[in-house]
Amino acid sequence: MGDTMRQRRRVAITVETSRLVVRRSMSQRHFWCARCSAHVQSVALEDAAALIGVSTSTISKTGAGEYHFVEEAGSALICLNSVILSIDKRKHD
Ligand SMILES: [Zn+2]
Repeated sequence: MGDTMRQRRRVAITVETSRLVVRRSMSQRHFWCARCSAHVQSVALEDAAALIGVSTSTISKTGAGEYHFVEEAGSALICLNSVILSIDKRKHD
């Protein structure tokens, strides 16, 4: 029971952190993600790495299997949905 409470609190913190990062991200923009089949928010690779708590090279190595990449004007952006899914997955590992 206590675990569920703690988990819920952690999710709330994650969502709040995501909002903060997204708000200050210059790359924030909606784009069409074919993997999500929806318009989603994107974050810069560096912001995605900071959110997940890994290095940018880890994300590059993990690649498109887990992250939804989009290239725009030469900069790597990542679908925010895939970032949040990844945070979630890591929590349960
Ligand atoms: Zn996506």
